[in-house]
Amino acid sequence: MAATVEERGILLDGAWVETGSWLEVRSPYSGELVGRVARAGAGEARRAIDAAERAMREPLPAHKRAEILVRVAAGLGRRHEEVARTIAAEAGKPLAAARIETRRAMSTYTMAAVEARKLAGEMVPMDASQAGEGKLAFTLRVPVGVVAAITPFNFPLNLVAHKLAPALAAGCAVVLKPASQTPLSALLLAELEIDAGLPPGWLNVLAGPSAELGDVLVEDPRVRLLTFTGSGEVGWKLRERAPRKRVTLELGNATPAIVDAQADVALAAELLAANAFSFAGQSCISVQRIYVERSIYEEFLAHLLPRVEALRLGDPLDEETDVGPVIDAAARERIMAWIDEARAGGAEILTGGELEDGLLRPTVIANAAPDLKVSCEEVFGPVCTVTPFDSLTEAIGLANGTRYGLQAGIFTGSLAAALRAARELEFGGVTVNEAPTFRADQMPYGGVKDSGNTREGPAYAVRELTEERLVVIAG
Ligand code: NAP
Repeated sequence: MAATVEERGILLDGAWVETGSWLEVRSPYSGELVGRVARAGAGEARRAIDAAERAMREPLPAHKRAEILVRVAAGLGRRHEEVARTIAAEAGKPLAAARIETRRAMSTYTMAAVEARKLAGEMVPMDASQAGEGKLAFTLRVPVGVVAAITPFNFPLNLVAHKLAPALAAGCAVVLKPASQTPLSALLLAELEIDAGLPPGWLNVLAGPSAELGDVLVEDPRVRLLTFTGSGEVGWKLRERAPRKRVTLELGNATPAIVDAQADVALAAELLAANAFSFAGQSCISVQRIYVERSIYEEFLAHLLPRVEALRLGDPLDEETDVGPVIDAAARERIMAWIDEARAGGAEILTGGELEDGLLRPTVIANAAPDLKVSCEEVFGPVCTVTPFDSLTEAIGLANGTRYGLQAGIFTGSLAAALRAARELEFGGVTVNEAPTFRADQMPYGGVKDSGNTREGPAYAVRELTEERLVVIAG
């Protein structure tokens, strides 16, 4: 039995509202009903924007915003286990990973509180030209306006936190649409914000048909910034449809890791095995493509494969489980089809490649041609490829051979190789002797190429969420 079976209204203008119809939330593991959430439509979306716009007419001072953010972090601490169990129940994320996500959300709020207190413009040196002599000028950082946020299922708490916390730090009211599969964690976080003293209208949370709600959020001119985390397929289309808004996109990746002959092979295998299969590979920076220098290829596999085979599949609410389900049957079938395509294309399945009690077994694929989907598209499942290389030039070329560019990693004992990889890997972030899945919430996080157009992490997100307003004072 899932820990949280509940019915929740959506949050509109400070009130929990029922709409007369419900969205069902089911466990991706057992299919059992985890909760019901009131289903919103276009009317509720417009009311949410009304409420957000009204709220922003009475700005909250920075110290109050910071205090609320600190209290949300404390609330997450107090209700830590309940929050983690909600994530595990609705997303199918193993409990250990759900607890880590909850701690990360606490850190996201704590850091956003710091940003709220530091938010300031800068002096402009007016006597730098003759025209400015005798004048004083500075910039104010003003909130961009009402923010619409759309979030994915895979980090149903912390990716919502990465939208809500910096927006409040920046002084923006938000209309949030979480993923339909995982609205409960978002609504629980909203409850913590209300309990922390957030006045009505500053946060509104909708659940319901994405296209209908998305249309209102995209088309309503009062929404000044649309912030989206999810697939490129949806994200880039939303951006095209909103040319007059600021649209920030955090999208997918086909994450590469390079292991050269100077690397600590055991460490690389340990970290890459853990980070290719955590949450069944459903992280935007899950390790997917591993390139290993030919002279250590067999040694690397000898370390990697036993670790992968030791991962325990099962119920995400079971403390022993390492790998749970993918989000739904459609995802499972797509991933199996990609594995079958690799098999038919001459690749070798070293382990996995099949279902065990309905769950995808962690799968390692060798000799996968570069044009196979598993080699260049985002699998978003418990699958990685391993490929030998003969030179760093070749490895970097293979790693860059994708339309994505979120994070990449290199394991090496050579400083020169590390620095070269940092310069030449076309990604938003490069890790050295750490899995490319590593993220801490203070980092500037985001992609290049098809992976996105922004950086998140409270300190970076508040730059997007504010405008610089110039003030010139004649002397
Ligand atoms: P998705 O299918 O793109 O869904 C993301 C969000 O967009 C959901 O809330 C979804 O709502 C909504 N949506 C779908 N169609 C829409 C439309 N026409 N208008 C407005 N909203 C719409 O992505 P996902 O499957 O949840 O997440 C997986 C993807 O997210 C992967 O590609 C992953 O790499 C990426 N991701 C990126 C990051 C990052 O920080 N870069 C982090 C995590 C995940 P419904 O659920 O109601 O359909």
